[in-house]
Amino acid sequence: MERNGGSDIIGWFDEVAETADSVQTQTLSQILRLNYGVEYLKKWFRDINIQEMEENALESLFTSLVPLASHADLEPYIQRIADGDEAPLLTQEAITNLSLSSGTTEGRQKFVPFTKHSSKTTLQVFKLAAAYRSRIYPIREGGRILELIYGSKQFKTKGGLTVGTATTHYYASEEFKIKQEQTKSFTCSPEAVISSGDYNQSTYCHLLLGLHFRDEVEFITSTFAYSIVQAFRSFEELWREICDDIREGSLSSRITITKVRNAVLDIISPNPCLASRIASTCEELEVKDWFCMIPKLWPNAKYVYSIMTGSMQPYLRKLRHYAGNLPLVSADYGSTESWIGVNVNPSSPPEKVTFAVMPTFSYFEFIPLHSQNQQNANSNTDDFIEEDPVPLSQVKLGQEYEIVLTTFTGLYRYRLGDVVEVAGFHKKIPKLNFICRRKLILTVNIDKNTEKDLQLVVERGSQALSKSKAELVDFTSHADVAKQPGHYVIYWEINGEVEERVLRECCREMDASFVDHGYVVSRRTNSIGPLELCIVEKGTFKKILEHFIRNGAALSQFKTPRCTSNQVLLKILDACTIKRFRSTAYGQEL
Ligand code: AMP
Repeated sequence: MERNGGSDIIGWFDEVAETADSVQTQTLSQILRLNYGVEYLKKWFRDINIQEMEENALESLFTSLVPLASHADLEPYIQRIADGDEAPLLTQEAITNLSLSSGTTEGRQKFVPFTKHSSKTTLQVFKLAAAYRSRIYPIREGGRILELIYGSKQFKTKGGLTVGTATTHYYASEEFKIKQEQTKSFTCSPEAVISSGDYNQSTYCHLLLGLHFRDEVEFITSTFAYSIVQAFRSFEELWREICDDIREGSLSSRITITKVRNAVLDIISPNPCLASRIASTCEELEVKDWFCMIPKLWPNAKYVYSIMTGSMQPYLRKLRHYAGNLPLVSADYGSTESWIGVNVNPSSPPEKVTFAVMPTFSYFEFIPLHSQNQQNANSNTDDFIEEDPVPLSQVKLGQEYEIVLTTFTGLYRYRLGDVVEVAGFHKKIPKLNFICRRKLILTVNIDKNTEKDLQLVVERGSQALSKSKAELVDFTSHADVAKQPGHYVIYWEINGEVEERVLRECCREMDASFVDHGYVVSRRTNSIGPLELCIVEKGTFKKILEHFIRNGAALSQFKTPRCTSNQVLLKILDACTIKRFRSTAYGQEL
């Protein structure tokens, strides 16, 4: 499949990659010329006429006059747009949609402009990524994709703009249909299922239709790996009901949304033979704890495709369990603000995947980050010393950077807050390794720990669980400073039985595994108290997900917050805690 279209788009990308430096300069000048005279840029360019300016001169002028910005700097403009101000504030083209960034790390969702350009670039990334995948894992033309995707509820702002997640806007766009036609792969579920607004009902229908089309399914996908794991965990509970529906051509009474019922019932018809085959496979799978579920249920699937890096890494173990020998292909790197990079080596294991930056999509700058000598660190920001941002053409192999974006959608020198490392080059394009969100998540006093630090510590601490045949379902944390000395609290949801002795050891191991100098020193002097491990009851993290969904998040973009000081979440976590342990590392006995 994708023979001609595929090599065309790869050929185009290779050409762009060869001249990435000048493509970036052109991209910037295109963005600035299109948006000449908008209020935000006027503030910095004043009366300078940039229209006739030479591109390289414009690039230098832009980076010298326009300051780096955070979302907070742009928020007043975005708010005016949301309220209906029609003057050109950030872009000349009217902004009709606003996206909600997931905000699960920050605890607060942010509005980001979304335009036709956003859907067009999404289509292009998906086509390019599909072309690279087909080179290694060819799929059958006209086949199906089991896409575990979910639109969020949309609403209108005071000024009449439509608000929803970026993925929701994309699923509702023409480009989503075009992608299916051009890549000749069709999603199993109709639009009504994707946009139902009730993730439980959508999941049930996705699974039912995925099995209805089981022989045609060429691969299984979701935006973030979390949704695949979440859906298959539900399948373990739902499979009998789903088999009944396949047998009878009926639809469970759990599906209450008329539009969804009609759309699904239009597709399915009684198929007792398929139902019995699936039921006997499920009976076998159930005794093997659902190992290899995906290839057993979808025998023609070639791979599983989803974002598996960054905060999705903790779900890899479970995904591998479900996927057995099927390749796991890590999906591309993007944000509500802009697409950033494509995985051009789909056979890389998810732990090693890199993303080739797309130089036509946005203008990228990179702030070099250097770790401080931690012993002297006493700032309460984070652990990095910054240098001045450099353009894409000047990034260095092995160096870490924070990404800065200038987009077609009205963001100018916008700090994304992601830390990446240059891990290689595709011709002249850097290939990035996603490291983490820059924001510190755990800090009590001089200690500084990021999401990645926490992830590594939890990975070490939870190793002992596998010996007990138990698994970590999900986790989060909180820096408790209510009482002196403050301390870290880590919440775990576990599947399976684990002895208290083992959990006590996990707790001690985690406390001892934080290598941040500030933490180690503070623990030794007891200015940070012993780490606390709280075991929460089964289903707690589902409650957290539901809390976010009620507040407008979409399952497609959901990321469990790895640290929280949100009072509602802490209340849920504390009410669901069934066991507590305090670490005995650093010699303190409790
Ligand atoms: P959102 O706020 O929903 O727009 O999510 C965007 C953020 O998700 C990015 O800024 C990254 O922190 C993270 N993200 C997106 N794609 C990837 C990826 N492929 N690997 C790791 N993290 C990612």
